[in-house]
Amino acid sequence: MSLPIRRTGLNRETPFFFLCSQCLLCCRHKKIQVNPYEVARLAANRGLSTAGFIDRYTHDSGTVLNWEEDGACVFLDARGCGVHPDRPLVCRLYPLGRHVLASGEETFSEIEPDQDCKGVYSDNGVITAYLDAQGARPFMDAADKYLDLLWKLCHILEEEAAEPEKQNAIVSVIQNFAGGERHGDIGFADVDAIAAAFCEKLNISIPESIDDKMLIHIQAVEAWANNSERRQDHETKKTRQITAKGSRKKPRHESH
Ligand code: SF4
Ligand code: SF4
Repeated sequence: MSLPIRRTGLNRETPFFFLCSQCLLCCRHKKIQVNPYEVARLAANRGLSTAGFIDRYTHDSGTVLNWEEDGACVFLDARGCGVHPDRPLVCRLYPLGRHVLASGEETFSEIEPDQDCKGVYSDNGVITAYLDAQGARPFMDAADKYLDLLWKLCHILEEEAAEPEKQNAIVSVIQNFAGGERHGDIGFADVDAIAAAFCEKLNISIPESIDDKMLIHIQAVEAWANNSERRQDHETKKTRQITAKGSRKKPRHESH
């Protein structure tokens, strides 16, 4: 679902201010995409594990929030957003959108608001102040970390082009970023399960804070994608081959 854009190519210092009147129109008929960090925040807000949250409140493998029959977000209640302190980044940014290139370059665009939006715009501020007022920074940091992970997975995918089985597994993780099918027993967005399994493997305790758990989750996915054991095997075999070549019997020098 693409939304009409009013202005684009904005940066953090661009004059912008928006005062929402909380009519809640924009919490209807929207596809709210979430990353694993946002899943973990929302799950904690609901007192659920990430697996329980994914099953109950999302579709497309935990990447999109459910909505009611009338198009209202599953968290919209009579008083407004029922998960306000942990609402996803897109909800915090609206009516802004944020774009980050592979180079890390960041721009913002201003989305054309809903026809009946009662929000008030002005130039009485800059985008960076708006981001702070919305508590967007930890969510943007998390989004950047998962984007970075996505680029790494794409890079590994290129390297693994000759191994179809490995490729399929990575493609499935990448699809999960964009709302693919749940893969295997543990979905990619199931931060709790993935972090717990990785901590057990490393024999370390599971961190309590969601931010730290996210770092473990990213590390776990990266380790899985790098598959260091398999790569080490491959490197060892390569080293053996090189050593074998290098230790070929030297031609015998005849002494006269
Ligand atoms: S439609 Fe506009 S005024 Fe209403 S809640 Fe959304 S942003 Fe705020
Ligand atoms: S999470 Fe909250 S702010 Fe976002 S769409 Fe749902 S009800 Fe609205």
